[in-house]
Amino acid sequence: MALLIKNIGEFFTGDLAAPTAPVRSLKIVDGRIAALDPAGDDARAETVLDAAGGAVMPGLVDGHVHPVLGEWTPAQDAIGWIGNYLHGGTTTMISAGELHIPGIDYDNLTPELVTSLAVVTAATTGRVRWSGVKLQAGTALLVPGMTQAHFDRLAAAGVKWVKFLFYPFGADTAEARNYVAWSHARGMRVKVHTGGVSRSGASAVCGYDVLSWLQPDVAAHVSGGPIPMSDDDIDAVVDRTNFALEVCSSGNYRSTHRLVERLRTRNELQRLTLGTDTPGGTGVIPRGMLRNVLYLASMCGLSPGQAVAVATGNTAKAHGIDVGVLAIGKPADIVVCGSITGSAGTTLTDAIAHGDLPGISHVLIDGEFVVTDRSRQTPPPTRRAFFCCCNTGTFEARAV
Ligand SMILES: [Zn+2]
Repeated sequence: MALLIKNIGEFFTGDLAAPTAPVRSLKIVDGRIAALDPAGDDARAETVLDAAGGAVMPGLVDGHVHPVLGEWTPAQDAIGWIGNYLHGGTTTMISAGELHIPGIDYDNLTPELVTSLAVVTAATTGRVRWSGVKLQAGTALLVPGMTQAHFDRLAAAGVKWVKFLFYPFGADTAEARNYVAWSHARGMRVKVHTGGVSRSGASAVCGYDVLSWLQPDVAAHVSGGPIPMSDDDIDAVVDRTNFALEVCSSGNYRSTHRLVERLRTRNELQRLTLGTDTPGGTGVIPRGMLRNVLYLASMCGLSPGQAVAVATGNTAKAHGIDVGVLAIGKPADIVVCGSITGSAGTTLTDAIAHGDLPGISHVLIDGEFVVTDRSRQTPPPTRRAFFCCCNTGTFEARAV
């Protein structure tokens, strides 16, 4: 079965190097993008969605979520949060640890317990696509005393990420360095909580001094989650390290501005990744990833295309996931959206530059419609996509 999306008015690639393109139609076959601007017989498809001159962008990638069990989060006593985020445009999520599980004793975490928690989560919450969303769950929280056998068990369970969150970084760096090496040897990536103490009250302060020798794959919420490292530390991390730097909805707006400006002037935006760091004390934020995009574009000097690319292709790449870019052969994880009546300008680009929320009409994951007609979390876009009947084969790509 083939699907054609036509009459695209604005096309966001998700690729920071070329974040927009004059693509007017795309064809999806077997869940992947088969053609851009197909013509003639190539444009034939069983299903045709007319984008009505609206925008198409990759599904957003939330690089920092805290799932617990399925779509239930005890952090804010909410159910259905993953589906709500989907309606905010998020199609992929990466767990930064399942630390909100009720009853867990942060003062008595053992290697057996954190390993088992990640293994159980990977085999339950991480096994299912809740509301269709690609959720990577089962992220191990690292504690002292772990052996290679624990990392073997994590790898065998399909765990992709480990996280330093409750780990007491001290003068002896050998164990933590070993954890990084053992993770990498098993194809797992390493994220580290940075800044001040988190809601749990249990993590240690982490700034440039630790990051410089730890060398994680991603430094989490560098501008605060919720408390940022010092300004001097932020500058040093940007100037003197090379790994990916994450900004989260839970952070400090001023520190985010400082971080992003510095990355931008150094031409290192490829290091910037995004997440919400929710559910948590910041709340359950279905439009959180969109709000991150709007802040970067309206206040931090990024173009709308760059901001979308950071929220999609950049974040996916930093986490080693093959999503977030709309190109031939890539998974068809797509948000069809546009500017909302009353927002600045008539294009989504103008609206995002002004900091105005997009309206979402349709969302696809692997070419399947998971939101149809309109999002339940955004107002409808002015240009609202609609299904045409069967394609006659006479369709010609054209600008609206
Ligand atoms: Zn977090």
